[in-house]
Amino acid sequence: MSISQLKNSMFNFKCNQLYKCSIRTFVSDICREKFDVIVIGGGHAGTEACAAAARMGAKTLLVTHKKSTVGEMSCNPSFGGIGKGHLMREVDALDGLCCRICDISGIHYKILNRRKGPAVWGLRAQIDRGLYKKHLQAELFSTENLHVTESPVEDLILSEDSLKCCGVVLKDGTKIIGKSVVITTGTFLKGQINIGIEKKPAGRIGDEPSIGLANTLERLGFRMGRLRTGTPPRIVKSTIDFTKCTLHNADDQPEPFSFMNNSVWIKPEDQLPCHITLTGDKVAKIVRDNLHCNTHVTEEVTGPRYCPSIESKILKFSSLNHQIWLEPEGLDSPLIYPSGLSCTLPAERQAELIRCLIGLENAEMAQPGYGVTYDFIDPRELTYQLETRRVAGLFLAGQINGTTGYEEAAAQGIVAGVNAAAKVLNKPPLIINRTEGYIGVLIDDLTTQGTSEPYRMFTSRAEFRVSLRPDNADQRLTEKGYASGCVSNERFDKMRSVKKQLQNAEDLLKSVEKTVIQWQRLLKIKLSKSHSSKTAFDMLGRSDRTITVEALRNCLPDVFGELQMDPVLNNRLQIQAHYSYAVQQQMNDVIEVRKNEEMVIPPTIDYASCYLNLSFEEREQLMIAQPQTIAAASRIPGVTPSAILRLLRYVKLTSDVQSVQHM
Ligand code: FAD
Repeated sequence: MSISQLKNSMFNFKCNQLYKCSIRTFVSDICREKFDVIVIGGGHAGTEACAAAARMGAKTLLVTHKKSTVGEMSCNPSFGGIGKGHLMREVDALDGLCCRICDISGIHYKILNRRKGPAVWGLRAQIDRGLYKKHLQAELFSTENLHVTESPVEDLILSEDSLKCCGVVLKDGTKIIGKSVVITTGTFLKGQINIGIEKKPAGRIGDEPSIGLANTLERLGFRMGRLRTGTPPRIVKSTIDFTKCTLHNADDQPEPFSFMNNSVWIKPEDQLPCHITLTGDKVAKIVRDNLHCNTHVTEEVTGPRYCPSIESKILKFSSLNHQIWLEPEGLDSPLIYPSGLSCTLPAERQAELIRCLIGLENAEMAQPGYGVTYDFIDPRELTYQLETRRVAGLFLAGQINGTTGYEEAAAQGIVAGVNAAAKVLNKPPLIINRTEGYIGVLIDDLTTQGTSEPYRMFTSRAEFRVSLRPDNADQRLTEKGYASGCVSNERFDKMRSVKKQLQNAEDLLKSVEKTVIQWQRLLKIKLSKSHSSKTAFDMLGRSDRTITVEALRNCLPDVFGELQMDPVLNNRLQIQAHYSYAVQQQMNDVIEVRKNEEMVIPPTIDYASCYLNLSFEEREQLMIAQPQTIAAASRIPGVTPSAILRLLRYVKLTSDVQSVQHM
């Protein structure tokens, strides 16, 4: 037996004993304190995970490199966006942290996608990095049941057969017992930073990588892969001529992220603007001329498709000028974050490239951009609870599972934290399915299909998106979270009160039915001359959204006088009415696809057909995968449920035409 084998067997023996809880007898270097849940990593997944476990009453320990980087926004100074805002509202519905912290740290709130329906509006805000971290740390460090310690975790304590995780080993050799362990180490597993041809082991600039933990996971047989991401250079604000750029103001009435808040902390007029500039031929030339000294771009590692580097955009779409958003890093920050300019050229070339942008001719670079490559675990190794199938009591959440983004990390973090605690406290697991939330879509996609590129959320990934709206996340998930024990009484009571008010109002509106002509007369607006009957709820839900609760109350004060809800609830009621038909239609579509899952797709199908109206990505994915059935097509990442429905109808139509021709 080699020395390492001997050490291993001793170690396993110790763990086995630990598992049986006889620590005191022989292991001197073990921290005496035992925890229900240990969370490794204080990023966006880790903070939600440890806070959720602690809220549930589990004695929880957060072990992270530095307390000062807890809640660090490693890349963009913003939260939310299309699909991502939905995830945040759902995290909030489970009493998570990020929405409440964004409501007291934002400096520019804007709802994206306003031209489309409210089901796919994207709540987004520029966030003051410093404030976010300060507020998050203040809340986390004073959370009951939660202990925080600074140290790298080097290894896991496992049972003799390696089938159960029972704690962690810190860098100084200290062993800490935990009944459940959640790993949320982001881009740190064998992280390597690239700038130009320089390579440096690091999880993020200024932070060491996690080598020991990555080796342990590899040794345990986890399927692992390698991904890459990058961050742009930061620019000195005072050196930019914003008058040459396009101004983008925030919303006049900022909408809070959290269900618990009626407003955000900042006055609308104090919000900071963003600006847009453009790349041009000179930028493209610098990128192309310097490919030989840009290792990150030429390496065979997959980067984020939807947040690509400037190099990828220029190499893929050479003729275009690309938009760069100039985003403030904070209320008093002297820095600007150029979103869309993520790059890994040598630092001096980056400084040169920045000065080729309109308005940035004299700009100074404060910090160069860089890329990071890192190991991730194939998320098909996980159950819906985000527990690994290989090692019981070991949970993974965040970028370690192949996702990208703070919101995706937070969403997984809260689920992993709740389930890690539920397992120890003998409570039922928290499982959110695709019909209940974007969190369900995220976890289902990851755990069933895996991912070969950094996964980010889009509304198009959700087949139930007319019912999974940002306005109703509380109605979908708070009760479930309350049953799990991660939601406070205060939030639960507020959710119930809102639910009751909305239900009463809907019932009242549905009880009044008139012909369209009668409504036209009452509301004093031009409608069609139809004699068909419509309820007041139908009228409120009209697609042009011009008939408000207030208008209905004014036209029939005796009947609707008691509809005295606040403007937020009036708005929610209108959205509810607006989508009630579509929700029914959505169910019919889902049933249609499910019924026809086994339908065969002819190999000669033309995915470029205009009848299919597929996006470039959908066409590409379908052509590569050549699925044989509708069921197989629906499992391809990036192909939306509505594309599947069109595909199904197209296959049906073409096969009907062919059978008629053969008759
Ligand atoms: P992180 O937020 O990275 O947190 C990991 C935490 O684990 C850190 O606190 C770290 O100190 C701790 N840790 C790691 N190893 C150990 C250990 N062994 N022991 C103890 N503690 C440990 N997202 C986008 O959406 N778009 C982008 O363009 C984008 N670009 C990025 C560029 C870079 C360079 C980086 C680093 C990240 C980028 N991200 C981007 C990703 C975004 O930052 C992450 O998706 C998000 O922060 C992931 O959250 P997480 O909690 O999984 O990990």
